[in-house]
Amino acid sequence: MNSAKPVNHNLPRMPALFIGHGSPLNAIEDNEFSRAWAKLGRRLPRPKAILCISAHWQTVGIRITGMPQPRTIHDFYGFPQALFDFEYPAPGKPALAARIHAVMPSIQLDQDWGLDHGCWSILRHMYPDADIPVLQLSLDSNKSPEQHYQLGKALGWLREEGVLIVGSGNIVHNLQAVIWRDTAHHWAIAFAERVKQLIADRDHRALARYREITDSALAIPTDEHFLPLLYILGLQTQDEEATFLTDKTSLGAISMLSVQIDS
Ligand code: ZN
Repeated sequence: MNSAKPVNHNLPRMPALFIGHGSPLNAIEDNEFSRAWAKLGRRLPRPKAILCISAHWQTVGIRITGMPQPRTIHDFYGFPQALFDFEYPAPGKPALAARIHAVMPSIQLDQDWGLDHGCWSILRHMYPDADIPVLQLSLDSNKSPEQHYQLGKALGWLREEGVLIVGSGNIVHNLQAVIWRDTAHHWAIAFAERVKQLIADRDHRALARYREITDSALAIPTDEHFLPLLYILGLQTQDEEATFLTDKTSLGAISMLSVQIDS
């Protein structure tokens, strides 16, 4: 990181969010999750821009979307046509992407991606007018969990600039174990409870070592849905609290727990 870090303009520090996004259908359904996200959007201070770290964009090296008008990516299969037809036309913010690259040169500008459903399925409810610029930051598959956590920490200056940082994933996410009934696997509930307790205890070290938590192989057979949480925890400062939202297991094996960080 070089010394080109911008000075803040006396804006209040923006909260940081981890959102459990769950099924893509949440994008077009009116349900307890979509209603909670809409409420959250109305409650938070209005951001100048949004930086979304989605489970659904993994790259080698770190990339940030730098185009003026990111496309809506429909990165799923077997869902209703209405979901494929949905567009979230929020603008990008090339100047901000360029500044992030200048401050943190390891983050490369990207002109190919856009907004994937990890990002827009939430934002369409939080900010239905799509009038706030949105950037996406990729998950670098070469990084260790500790490095993802540290990268989150290094993005903290953006919060002082009015940027809302949103990590989008799920702390329990096992698609092979999904059940279409209103019940949940005991290991899914237990794993989510352990993670929640560690967040409440601010035990970020243990959370960055999530593979050592009992039943992690069942709860998160792959890492990408858990990693966005580490960015948001990295952003938590000493004076800030973690508040839990939408604390529910959906489809038996997907935790919808969300976390808001602010003072
Ligand atoms: Zn997902």
